[in-house]
Amino acid sequence: MSENVQVVIRLRPVHTKTNFKVQNQTISTVEPPLRSFNFDHIFDTSSSQTDIPGELCSKYVLHALEGYNACIFAYGQTGSGKTYTMRGTNSNPGIIPLLCRDLFDALELDKTTVSSVSITYFEIYNEKLIDLLGDTSPRVRETNDKKTFVQDITTFKVNRVEEVLEYLSIGDSKRSVASTRMNMESSRSHAIFTLSIKQQEPDGSIRESDLKLVDLAGSERANATMGIDNGKRMKEGANINKSLSTLGRCISQLAKNSKHLIPYRDSLLTWVLKENLGGNSKTCMIACISPIDLEESLSTLRYATTAK
Ligand code: ADP
Ligand code: MG
Repeated sequence: MSENVQVVIRLRPVHTKTNFKVQNQTISTVEPPLRSFNFDHIFDTSSSQTDIPGELCSKYVLHALEGYNACIFAYGQTGSGKTYTMRGTNSNPGIIPLLCRDLFDALELDKTTVSSVSITYFEIYNEKLIDLLGDTSPRVRETNDKKTFVQDITTFKVNRVEEVLEYLSIGDSKRSVASTRMNMESSRSHAIFTLSIKQQEPDGSIRESDLKLVDLAGSERANATMGIDNGKRMKEGANINKSLSTLGRCISQLAKNSKHLIPYRDSLLTWVLKENLGGNSKTCMIACISPIDLEESLSTLRYATTAK
C-alpha cells in the first residue's frame, strides 16, 4: 500500500439499532452473515467532531507547506455525514474550517516566508463545473507539461479563517440555489473547495501547493432512491456512478503504485483532481457510514477496501 493514500472510516451516531460494531481496527456486522473489514483508522459513533481533524489536518497542512498537493474527500451515501465531516456546523466545525485554522496558524508562525492563500469553490454536476463564488463558466485545461487546472474560476485571497467561512457560506447558498434551478438535490453534485498556497522563501524561490477538500455526491445507487423511469435522474445517477467508480479505480491504482496509466480522464471529477491524487500528493478518503443502513454501508466499506 502506498503511504500517500490513506483511508479512514467514520460512523455517524444513530438513535436506533446499529448494524455494525467496531473493535480497534475492525468493523463487523452485528448479525450473521458476519462480515468484517480492517482499516487503520475507524472513528466510531462516539468519536467527536475534532478527533478526525486532530489526526489529519496538521499532517496535511505540513505536507502542503512543504510544497506538495493533497486531497481529502468524504465518500458515502446521502445522510452518512459527509457534509458534517467536511464542513461541520458553526458550533462543531469540520475539516475545512479546522484545517484552514491550522494553516493560517502555521503561516503566521513562519516569519521567514512571504505567503498568500487563495480559494476557489465549485461543484461538479452532470460532468459540468459550476462556480460557487461567482458567475464564471469554469473549464478544466491542461498545461503544456500535462498538468490540469481549472480555468476561469472566481478566486479570492484570504488571510483569516473568518474570511474563508464567509466565502463558504456564500458558496453554500449558491449551491442550493443552483440545485433548485437545475431541479436537483445538492447531494447529487460533488463540491470541491480548493486552498492554493504560495510561499516565497528569503532566497526568492517559490513553493506552490494546492489542497482540495471534497464533499462527494451521495454514493447510493441511482435507481434505488429515484425511480427508474426518470431519464434526467438516470443520467445524473450514471454520471455519479461513473465519477465515483473512476475515482475508486484511480485511487486503488495509486495505492498499489500501479505502473498502468491512471484513468484520470475517464471522469471530470478525477480529471479535476489529477494534480491532487498522483505524484507526491497525499490523498485521504473518509468513508462515511450511516450504521442503520446495512447494504449501503457494506457497499461503502467495499469501496473503501479497494482504495487501501
Ligand atoms: P451527507 O452530507 O452525507 O448527506 P450530512 O453531513 O448532511 O450527510 O449528515 C446528515 C445529518 O446527520 C445531519 O443533520 C448531520 O448534522 C448529522 N450528522 C452526521 N454525522 C454526524 C456526527 N458524526 N455527529 C453528529 N451528527 C451527525
Ligand atoms: Mg451533504
